[in-house]
Amino acid sequence: MVTAKCSPRSLAFRATACLFLGVVLLCFNATIGHAGTIVSASCPCGYSKTLPLFGGRRNFKTACMFPALDKAKHDIALYNVFEYPDTENSPGPPGLISYASPNLMPEHPSEAVAFWRIQSLGKTLTLYQGGYVCPRCEKRTMTFRTVGFWD
Ligand SMILES: [Zn+2]
Repeated sequence: MVTAKCSPRSLAFRATACLFLGVVLLCFNATIGHAGTIVSASCPCGYSKTLPLFGGRRNFKTACMFPALDKAKHDIALYNVFEYPDTENSPGPPGLISYASPNLMPEHPSEAVAFWRIQSLGKTLTLYQGGYVCPRCEKRTMTFRTVGFWD
């Protein structure tokens, strides 16, 4: 009888403890577990490029690199979102169109390949698998995939 009385309570305690641990781990991850994502862009037309995104352990507070379309060079360039947050009050990177902008976003976003939350700007940057506008053939056939991480 005693064990029957105790077990639901201990289960509830365990569930609470697990939940608490989960929240702690999530917070830990969000504040300390900063590692950039290396993605590879590729298109059936033959265009491909490897890009180290976001920030590393040393620079994540001042650097957040995100891909943008360089129409003049028919290439992808990286820009620092902290310098050009592309909000209502500040312009995007000069000469570039961010791949986070609605014009370049996939019409039907598939699964997210990489995302990065910038708390100080209150925004989350998400890169989906595809199809994005390719800098070379200008079709919405370019896809991104994660190939690694950097610190
Ligand atoms: Zn292409």
